[in-house]
Amino acid sequence: MGAVVEKGKESSVLVSTQHVVQQALRKLGYKEEMYELLKEPVRMLTVRIPVRMDNGDIKVFTGYRAQHNDAVGPTKGGIRFHPEVTEDEVKALSMWMTLKCGIVNVPYGGGKGGIVCDPRQMSFPELERLSRGYVRAISQLVGPTKDIPAPDVFTNSQIMAWMMDEYSRIREFDSPGFITGKPLVLGGSHGREMATAMGVTICIEEAAKKKQMGLAGANVIIQGFGNAGGYLAKILKERGANIIGISDAYAALFDENGLDIDYLLEKRDSFGTVTNLFKQTITNKELLQRPCDILVPAAIANQITRENAHDIQAKIIVEAANGPTTMEATKILSERGVLIVPDVLASSGGVTVSYFEWVQNNLGYYWSEEEVAEKLRNKVVHAFNNVIQTAESHKIDTRLAAYMVGVRKTAEASRFRGWI
Ligand code: NAD
Repeated sequence: MGAVVEKGKESSVLVSTQHVVQQALRKLGYKEEMYELLKEPVRMLTVRIPVRMDNGDIKVFTGYRAQHNDAVGPTKGGIRFHPEVTEDEVKALSMWMTLKCGIVNVPYGGGKGGIVCDPRQMSFPELERLSRGYVRAISQLVGPTKDIPAPDVFTNSQIMAWMMDEYSRIREFDSPGFITGKPLVLGGSHGREMATAMGVTICIEEAAKKKQMGLAGANVIIQGFGNAGGYLAKILKERGANIIGISDAYAALFDENGLDIDYLLEKRDSFGTVTNLFKQTITNKELLQRPCDILVPAAIANQITRENAHDIQAKIIVEAANGPTTMEATKILSERGVLIVPDVLASSGGVTVSYFEWVQNNLGYYWSEEEVAEKLRNKVVHAFNNVIQTAESHKIDTRLAAYMVGVRKTAEASRFRGWI
C-alpha cells in the first residue's frame, strides 16, 4: 500500500492518524489487513436531533457517534459540542481513544461522539433538550457494556447528568455506568474533573526528569484554559511552575514574570474564556512562539504545523489536547531535539479515571481521592516509561512509539477473536 499522505500537502487529522496507525502496525509486524480493519471505526452513526429552542422554533442539529473497535471490550470516549465538529474528526478521535485505552491498559476500545452546535450561544434549557435528544437518538448503540460516553470539549458534568438521566429513563433502571464524568452525587469519581490535568502533570514531571529539568521554576505556556488547561495551570502553579502564558478561543495572555492563575480561574467563564476581560492580549499564534521550557497545547487540533514548528522555542511539548501537532510538525520538532509527549499518552488521565468511575459504578463501592490519585499515577508512569522505552529501542519518534504501544492490544484482541 502506498503512502496515505499526499506529498506537499498538510494532512487532515484523520488521514495523519491513519498514517501513523499504519506505520505502527507495520513496525509491530502485522499484515496490511489489520490496518484495513483498524483504519476506520467499525460503526459510525449519524443522527439528526430536533430541538425546541427557547423562542419556540425547532432547530435540527447533526450528531455523530463513532465506535472504532470493540475487540478488547466496550467502546469508550467523550462527546464534543462544537460548531466545527465533523464526521472525520469524530472518527479520528475514536481511533485516538483506542490508542489511549491501549496505552494505559484499560479494557476498552475507542469511541467518540460529537454534536455540531455552539453551546456558547445556547441557554441551559436548550442544552438540556439537545443532550437528552442526542441520547434518545443513539440509545440503541450505547450502554454500560456497549459504549460508554464521557465529557469532551464544551461538555461537562451537568450535561453528563442529563444524559445519564435520559438513558436511565429509556432503560427504566438507574444506569450510572452508562456515562462517566458525572457529578459525585450521581456516581461520579473523585478526581475525574481534574483527571486529564493530573495525567498531563504526571507526564510533565516524567518528561522534565528525562530532560534533567525540575518542574519548580520552569516556565510553562498553556494554550486553552478550559477543563484540561485551567486545572493544569492550577496544579502546575501549586507545584512551583511559573505559568507565563495562557489562552482561550479568542486571544492569549503572556507575562514572563508569571500570570496570576488563581485570579484568572476565578474570572473565567464555564467555557474557559477569560481574555475578553483584558486589553493587553496577544494572539494564540504569537503565544505558541514565545520562549518557554514547557509548552502544553490544551485547546484544539492542528495548532503546531509545519508553518510554525520551526518557531516553537519550547524544550518539551506535552499535548493535553487531541491532535494539536501535525505529523509534519512532529518530524521537524523531533529532529530539533524537542521532547514531545504525544496526545494519546499525555491526555490519557481522563479515560483512566473514567475507567475507575465505571469500575466503581459497577462495584457500587467508591474509592477515596487518594486511592484514585495513586492508581492514576501508577498507570500513567507505567505508560510513559513504556512509550519512551519503545521510542528508544526502535529509534523512532515518541508519537509512533505511543501508537505502537496503543494499537497492540486491539490488534491482538482482534486476532484472538479470529476477526483477522
Ligand atoms: P474545554 O471546552 O473545557 O476548553 C477548551 C479551551 O480551549 C477553552 O479555553 C477554549 O476557549 C479554548 N479554545 C477553543 N477553541 C479554540 C481555538 N480555536 N483556539 C484556541 N483556543 C481555543 O475543553 P477541555 O475539556 O479542556 O479539552 C481541551 C482539549 O483537551 C481537547 O482537545 C480535548 O479533546 C482534550 N481532552 C480533554 C479531556 C477532558 O477530560 N476534559 C480528556 C482528554 C483530552
